Formats: sequence, C-alpha cells, structure tokens
Amino acid sequence: MRREMQPSLFRREKDMELIFKAADKGKQYKVTKIYVKEGLAFEAGAPLFKAESGKLNTVVKAEQAGTLMELFVHEGQEIGAGDILARVSYEEAGEQAVQKQMGIKGISPDNRSGKDKGGKPSPAYTLPGKKETLTCDIAVIGAGPGGYEAAIYAAKQGKSVILIEKGKVGGTCLNAGCIPTKAIVSSAARYHGLQSSAIFGVSCPEVSFDMHQVISHKNQVVGELRQGIESLLKANDVRLVRGAASFQGEKELLVAQGLNRTTVKADHIIIASGSRILKLPIPGINGKNVLNSASALDLEEDFTSIAIIGGGVIGMEFAGIYAAFDKQVHVLEYEGQILPTVDSDLAGALLHVLEGRADIRTGVRVKEIRESENNRCIVVFEADGCERYLVTDKVLVAVGRAADMEGLKLDNAGIRLTENGRAIEVDSHMQTNVDGIYAIGDVTGKIQLAHAASHQGMAAVDHILQKQHAMEYDFIPSVIFSTIELAAVGKTEGQLKKEGIPYRVSRFPFAANGKALTMEERDGFVKLLARETDGALLGAAVAGPDASNLISILALALSNHLPAEAIIRTVFPHPTLGEGIHEAALGLTVGAIHNYE
Ligand code: FAD
Ligand code: NAD
Repeated sequence: MRREMQPSLFRREKDMELIFKAADKGKQYKVTKIYVKEGLAFEAGAPLFKAESGKLNTVVKAEQAGTLMELFVHEGQEIGAGDILARVSYEEAGEQAVQKQMGIKGISPDNRSGKDKGGKPSPAYTLPGKKETLTCDIAVIGAGPGGYEAAIYAAKQGKSVILIEKGKVGGTCLNAGCIPTKAIVSSAARYHGLQSSAIFGVSCPEVSFDMHQVISHKNQVVGELRQGIESLLKANDVRLVRGAASFQGEKELLVAQGLNRTTVKADHIIIASGSRILKLPIPGINGKNVLNSASALDLEEDFTSIAIIGGGVIGMEFAGIYAAFDKQVHVLEYEGQILPTVDSDLAGALLHVLEGRADIRTGVRVKEIRESENNRCIVVFEADGCERYLVTDKVLVAVGRAADMEGLKLDNAGIRLTENGRAIEVDSHMQTNVDGIYAIGDVTGKIQLAHAASHQGMAAVDHILQKQHAMEYDFIPSVIFSTIELAAVGKTEGQLKKEGIPYRVSRFPFAANGKALTMEERDGFVKLLARETDGALLGAAVAGPDASNLISILALALSNHLPAEAIIRTVFPHPTLGEGIHEAALGLTVGAIHNYE
C-alpha cells in the first residue's frame, strides 16, 4: 500500500475545527478508523483518523495535544477535502504539558491499561479528572432550541447563566432534526425541480445527484449554525459546560464529562433535555439495514427501495426526500390515515402529489423485520387480517419520540412527572412542582416542535424575572416539509367536529392563483375555519407552495384574534401566493373572487 504525504490538520483562527486536507483535493476518502472518542484527550502527534481512498492510506495526526469534543464523521463515512472531521479543544494543552513533565499520564475508565484490546499502545488517553464548583443565577440543562435560546434570553436580561450540554450544541433540532432534514429536503427539491423544468423552457437532460455532496452540504450548514450558536453564547456571556447533568438537590447539579466533575449551584434550573427516538419493540429492529431518523441523515450508500414504518411527520418528510431521489418508497402507517393529526384534506393533498411515486399503506401493523439471504429486509406486517411481506433494501423506523430524562436523577430534587410518567409535569409558566425548577421543550411532552421549545424557554425565563407570560398553546403553527409543504395553526376541522363547535370552512385552491401557476405549483390550497356563530377565526391551514412561510401570516392573525374582515381589508401584493389567504378570507364572507365554488 502506497503511503500518501501526511495530510495536515489546520486550526482555523476563530474555531477549533479539524478540517480534512487531503493531498488530492478531487479524491473521495472513506474513514476507516477513528482512534479517539468524544471527551477523550490526545497527545501531539497521536493518530486521530485513518482514511483510505483506493490504495491510498492516510492517517490524520494531531498537531498538538488536546481533547476531542465532537465527532462529525463516523467510520465508513466518505469524506473529501474540506470536510470537518471533529471539533477539538486545546484548552488543556498547558495543563497536560505540566502533567507530562510531572510524569502523570491519565487513562480513561474504559481503557485503564492504556492499551487497546489488541494490546497495542492506546492512541488516546484522558487527563486525570478535574473538579470544580460553579455558581450562577440560572443553570440550563440541554443546549437544544429550548435551552440555548432560554440561556441567551436570560443572559441578555442580566442573569448569570450556565448552559450544560452532554452532546452537541443545537440539540436534536440542529444536529439530527429540523435543519439537517430541511437541508436534504432542499437538495431533493432541487433535483426533482430540475427534472421537471422543461415546461419552463429550461432543459437539463442529464440531471444527477451525488449523495455524498447532499450530506456534505447538510453537514456544512449544520456546522456553520452550530458555530454561530457557540459564538452567540460567548457574546452573551453564557458559560457552556460540557457534560451530562444530574440533580444533586433542588439547587445543585453534578456535571460529568469523562473523569471531570463540575458542581453547578444555581438559584433556578431549567431542564431542556429534549427527547429521544422511540424504538419499535419488534424482532429485527436492530438489523444493519434498519435506519432511524438520525442514521438516515448520514446515509450516503445507494439503494433502490425503502420501507418507512410510521407515516407521521418524520416518515412523510423522508418519504418526500426518497421519492424525489427516485427510490421506491413504501410507507407503513398504523393508523387509518398518514399524518393522523392533520385534517384529511391536507393529508390528501400530499397523497395526491405522491401518487405513483410512493406506495402508502395505512391501517397496518408491522410485526417483524427479517434479513434475507441477499442482505435485504423482509418487513412482515398485518393488513386486513392477513400477514403480508415487503422486501426492500432499507427500512426506516419513525414511530415517534419520547421525553429524554435519562440520568437526570429527578428524584434527588423531588421533581414530579406527568400522570403517565412519560414527561416532566409543568404549569403554564413551565415551572415544575418544585419552586425554581422549570422544564421546557420536548421533555415536557406537550408539543414536539423547536419553536414551541424556544417559546416555552422564554416563558420560563420571564417567570424567573417575575414578568407576566403564561404559555399558550392554541396558536402554535406546525409545518410538514414533504413533497409539498403542509402547514397549520389553531384548530383543525377534526377538532372542531369533535368539540361540537359549529364552523364554516373556506378553501382557496392554488390552481386559481396567478403566482402559483407561474411556478407550476397547482396543487394545494389555503383553508380557513371560522366559528359559525360570530365568524371568529379558529383555525387555518396551507397545503402547497411556501406553506411554511404563508402560515406565519395566519398565525399572526389568529393569535391576535383578528376577524376575517381584517384579512380582507389588508392589501396583499400581486401576484403572490399570499393572495390565496385574502381569497380564502373572502370565501368566508361574500365568496372568493377567483373561485367558481
Ligand atoms: P433537544 O433539541 O432535543 O435538545 C436537548 C439537548 O439536551 C440535547 O442536545 C441533549 O444532548 C441535551 N441533554 C439531554 N440530557 C442532558 C443532560 N442530562 N445533561 C446535559 N445535556 C443533556 N421541529 C420543528 O419545529 N421543525 C422541524 O422542521 C423539525 N424537524 C424535525 C426533524 C426530525 C428528524 C426530528 C427528529 C425532529 C424534528 N423537529 C422539528 C422536532 C425538534 O427537533 C424538537 O422539537 C426540538 O429539538 C426540541 O427542542 P428541545 O430544546 O426541547 O430538545
Ligand atoms: P409522529 O408521532 O409524528 O408519527 C409517528 C407515526 O408512526 C404516527 O403516525 C403513528 O401512528 C405511527 N406509528 C406508531 N407506531 C407504529 C407502528 N407500530 N407501525 C406503524 N406506524 C406506527 O412521530 P415522528 O414522525 O417520529 O416525529 C416525532 C416528532 O418530531 C413529531 O411529533 C413532531 O412534533 C417532530 N417533528 C417535527 C417536524 C416538523 O415540524 N416539520 C419534522 C419531524 C419531526
């Protein structure tokens, strides 16, 4: 095997990212070995990563001693020049040098011999544990959109804040949720859009996609945003403590990272520990071709077909992605409708655009996933009382998420859970049963959306600052970013029926909107729901182009209790998709101008 020139790592001035700098910029490499674990220290010259490209074998070595804080690649992943491998901290370099001089060499708890399993000298070791005690006004556990925004919001108002994170800053939303999925949705939409651009007089006869670049782009966006958050934390004097927090008492947390222990004493504590992926308890769920929403985000391998178990939000966003990338998509949903929480006309609009591009089955129960001899998956499920089989290359399981309370030791502070024991119980100010301890975001089991988590965080901080701000849940918009976007705010038609509230509905189709036609976006509609008795707007939804942006206009109207007349009196620019909102409001009164109904 030929040895390539040692590729070097360089340290950017503002951050501590390790960038892969291959000698041959055009080559794709595969990470074949990662020598250091997150949280472990390494010496100058220690091997960190091994990457191979054909016969070329490359070992990335550390230029100076440090600690590996976050890994951005995994073994088997393809990388190219410029990809971010990891984030390291060189803060310990001084201390390490002193310890080296004194002959102290720490070892990790799982590597006490200082040797790896094969008995070779270990390429990484930890420093002896550090202990410190910190005090602050507010300690926040979890740096997802709930936690980090609450921390900055509090710091901006003069509070001393410590933010504790055991994983990556940005939480699920930034690292394995909202942002990475939308970056891939964006790639998928571009690919699909180019394939159908002939009608615009633009032909791209050889459109192709490169999954490595799709994932690299996603990683680059995520990395950029993560760096942005870390800079914001610094700029606002929020102290970031890395490690897993657990309660020692009502006002005391212990943060553990490797052998380091930090005691954090705080007047107020906000728990923003988020949620984790729910696993389906069926045989075969750990198969090597079975993905979840996190592993699917790094899948570069080519495949032909995929079965998606769960036709909820995650399932339908991935169905949209894979359908756009020409995969054979099968969705297996337990309920009688995909996206069971949205109105059937919205789910129907998505089904319509997926027709012929995805096989969607509802009312099915998946029993087992078997592995076939040729390395494929056999999904065994029950439909209409019969056992059926589906053979695909991959399976993606997306059957929900559960509050993450692991390791928090809530009992040590006497924090009460909800009746079903699945989340932390909070009041409208996000306060738990213990004075001064709050919980926000997914861990409260109320609504699993990033913007809801952030808003709950502000409500918690406002309560600490003795400002009036009770959390309201009636008008939190939600968006599903699939082949078309589905967005909703307020009540659904289903809820109004269930609650026995008489209502009027107005639906304005994009097929009658000039701007939508110029974009060849004829599917979908704007829908408004108003109380029959007094015309008050109770709910709104948009299916179709730019629904994710249009819904903000409707959220503003509904949360301020504006009547349909206020929308009618507002002048909407022409030609825009927003005119659909104006027309739908007219539809509740005299009738839409551009609609025959
Ligand atoms: P999280 O973002 O989960 O953050 C919690 C953080 O706490 C994590 O970083 C975790 O490491 C840390 N933590 C946990 N325990 C401890 C501990 N003991 N000590 C220290 N740190 C700890 N929502 C949207 O609004 N829009 C979308 O488009 C969207 N898309 C999504 C796509 C996918 C695939 C998924 C999975 C979710 C998506 N969501 C979306 C949901 C959104 O990601 C969550 O609602 C949101 O991240 C919740 O924020 P949070 O702050 O409560 O928790
Ligand atoms: P979900 O609750 O939206 O959907 C899970 C689906 O799986 C449901 O339709 C459910 O009926 C189905 N299901 C459950 N068990 C099943 C089984 N055994 N077989 C077949 N189907 C089964 O959960 P999710 O899609 O995992 O997403 C979790 C949360 O993340 C969502 O509730 C949402 O709040 C959030 N999220 C939001 C966005 C967004 O805002 N765009 C995107 C992704 C995720």
